Amino acid sequence: AKEHGRNTWQRFSLETNAGAVEKLVLETGLRHALERGELFLHYQPQVRTSDGHPVGAEALCRWQHPYLGLVPPIKFIPLAEETGLILPIGAWVLEEACRQSVAWQEQGLPPVRIGINLSGRQFKDRHLVDKIAEILDRTGVDPDLVELELTESMLMDDARGTAEMLHKLRGLGVHLAIDDFGTGYSSLSYLKHFPIDRVKIDRSFVMDLEGGGDDAAIAGAIIAMAQSLNLATLAEGVETEGQLEFLRERGCEEIQGYYFGKPMAAEDFAAYLHREAGN
Ligand code: C2E
Ligand code: CA
Ligand code: CA
Ligand code: CA
Repeated sequence: AKEHGRNTWQRFSLETNAGAVEKLVLETGLRHALERGELFLHYQPQVRTSDGHPVGAEALCRWQHPYLGLVPPIKFIPLAEETGLILPIGAWVLEEACRQSVAWQEQGLPPVRIGINLSGRQFKDRHLVDKIAEILDRTGVDPDLVELELTESMLMDDARGTAEMLHKLRGLGVHLAIDDFGTGYSSLSYLKHFPIDRVKIDRSFVMDLEGGGDDAAIAGAIIAMAQSLNLATLAEGVETEGQLEFLRERGCEEIQGYYFGKPMAAEDFAAYLHREAGN
């Protein structure tokens, strides 16, 4: 009876803690993912709305786990944040994306911007500016081609500190974009105090553009306000011709989404770039 009770407890415990077990498995694996070469980047096209010409690529991290297969970033990036592993992983992403940009240049491909996501924990790292300067130096990438993507919540924490940090980053010659814009609690008028180049309109507003609801009004208002503040706009998650048309009419400069291309391996992006912008 005792034995039975224990098994029952174990089963119960495993079932109710499935999330915790998965987390533990992922966390253990993530600790070795970098050194074992299990992380890699995919690149998603960012195109000019007026003519579909590729102007950039967002670097998106992927993890090929030895037996769980491809783990989506939504599962491992928050975990990396929580454990602090995002610092070495984020540094690797920065360096890998910069190296790839240089490699594409050396292959004679037309220059495109490379968007790199920064996490909150990285942004709070007091060595961040030095680390990025070092990576720019080591890889020899053109900083003018590098755009760091930051989210609103990262910026609104401590306005004074944020402005100083952004100016330092901007001083390295890189560009800055606000990611997932509209989902946080910042206002565009507040952002005018920051040296930001671009606003990336969150996919949630783009999704329902044709639904006749509030989202079209919100997206339209974001574009208009960004224009008045001299900020470039990029809409995320564009999947249809109708969404593209709406955004084009409102003057949104760039779009990113499955309509033009999904995130793809570096070689595939190079082939795409060659095809679309080559000559
Ligand atoms: P994000 O920065 O907002 O990246 C855009 C996400 O939207 C990507 O998901 C991309 O595949 C997806 N997406 C793009 N176009 C479409 C579309 O037309 N339809 C739909 N349904 N989805 C689209 P992904 O690659 O799964 O990345 C998810 C999130 O994980 C990213 O959101 C970002 O927050 C985070 N992430 C990914 N890589 C990194 C990284 O290297 N560092 C950090 N800190 N975060 C990362
Ligand atoms: Ca992003
Ligand atoms: Ca985004
Ligand atoms: Ca909506």
